[in-house]
Amino acid sequence: MFRRILVANRGEIALRVIRACRDLDIEVVAVFSEADRDAPYLKLADQAICIGPAAAAGSYLNIPRIISAAEVANVDAIHPGFGFLSENAHFAEVCRTCNIEFIGPPEEAMRRLGYKSEARKLALEAKVPVVPGSEGLITSEEEAVRLARGMGYPVLIKAAAGGGGKGMRVAHDEESLKTGLVAAQQEAEKAFKDGGVYLEKYIERPRHVEVQLLGDKHGNVVHLWERDCSLQRRHQKLVEESPAPNLPDSVREDICLSAVRLARAGGYYNAGTCEFLVDQQHRFYFIEVNARIQVEHPVTELITGIDLVREQIRVAAGEPLRFRQEDIQTNGAAMECRINAEDPAAGFRPSPGVITRWQAPGGPGVRLDTHVVPGYMVPPNYDSMVAKLLVYQPTRAEAIACMRRALAEFVVEGIKTTIPIHREIFNHPSFAEGAVDTTFIERTWHNAASQLPSGGNQPAERKKADFAA
Ligand code: ADP
Repeated sequence: MFRRILVANRGEIALRVIRACRDLDIEVVAVFSEADRDAPYLKLADQAICIGPAAAAGSYLNIPRIISAAEVANVDAIHPGFGFLSENAHFAEVCRTCNIEFIGPPEEAMRRLGYKSEARKLALEAKVPVVPGSEGLITSEEEAVRLARGMGYPVLIKAAAGGGGKGMRVAHDEESLKTGLVAAQQEAEKAFKDGGVYLEKYIERPRHVEVQLLGDKHGNVVHLWERDCSLQRRHQKLVEESPAPNLPDSVREDICLSAVRLARAGGYYNAGTCEFLVDQQHRFYFIEVNARIQVEHPVTELITGIDLVREQIRVAAGEPLRFRQEDIQTNGAAMECRINAEDPAAGFRPSPGVITRWQAPGGPGVRLDTHVVPGYMVPPNYDSMVAKLLVYQPTRAEAIACMRRALAEFVVEGIKTTIPIHREIFNHPSFAEGAVDTTFIERTWHNAASQLPSGGNQPAERKKADFAA
């Protein structure tokens, strides 16, 4: 087992990895940018090293600086968390050439599965259904027009190197396809230094269902069942849950086995997620692999009782998986709300600043993963997620009730957060029925600006329970 691990990340996921190292009795080294200098979680590591300025390019994305810190601290392994360098195959390769284990999949699998248009090809080879679309990258406007005519509108233009919904455009007709192509290519070039785009049929009102995978270096791959992440805004997840509601068992089983087939075909190991869209007829289509631990991994931890970050570390150290597929049972229902420093009433605009009041929920069935403490300053430089609020209960209905209670207790002042929209979602009858799809939020809170309660949140039910100071 490793003696010392460096965490090449920040915020909530850095703290999550620090905790896993503590549980495994492994020393842990944190890194920080100047913007995170005073972050309280840094004190929970054995050592913390400054790696550069606030701008991520000079710190959390800077490979030479991170490798230098790892060498100075003399670590055996690096955990990349999610975002930043976590899906950068070059970084994984540099780590391994420096004799530092990269806690993640092998570089070859990252290259094959991380690039979306390549992953689609591999999925087809592994007999995993993909969304109808172009075979590879789009090479000309004429080709795009011809393909779109064949598929029928609407179509979706997607960046091959994409992530975070960037470089994605829906086209409803030839004209919007032409303008969308240029816009998507430019956006992808800017975000990923790679303007490659491809086309997919736009699936109407799909659900997003993904499968948690775990593999070791000895050829064993298992799935830890599915998560439904249909509640999104601008193609970005807000709520995740497992099991997926109203999904027939046979479909659930088929999706999970398809994901395992794809992982095996790609020579994958460590933790990863295979994402699918499920249409109204329960047909499913592969969309992409996330070759890393995901934000929503605790949902799966709650229903399977398996600590995914600890398992990531164990398999990276060469240990075989400690369970077979048939050993992985799920119990109950788990849900997660992403609490972001954003104003839902203003189109989810980021809302950085000092958190003047932070009254966290708790009690039976509640798990709060966060690096935030009262007085914490949310820097404007990074992702806006400040906490993950999770609940775990025997049934979905009880999980919803528990989440309502937790959201009602949660008070954050000084910044705007997504708490008010979560309260709306968890009180919505369609959500309670599990009748959701990826367009639910935008359809339900159309013109959200005027309809949503303000993001500056007070306790939801002040009349019933006056928690306010
Ligand atoms: P990214 O990596 O940028 O997050 P994904 O491929 O994971 O992009 O897709 C993100 C979300 O975009 C999906 O969960 C879904 O809501 C939407 N989406 C992606 N592909 C399609 C499609 N072909 N049809 C309809 N919606 C799609």
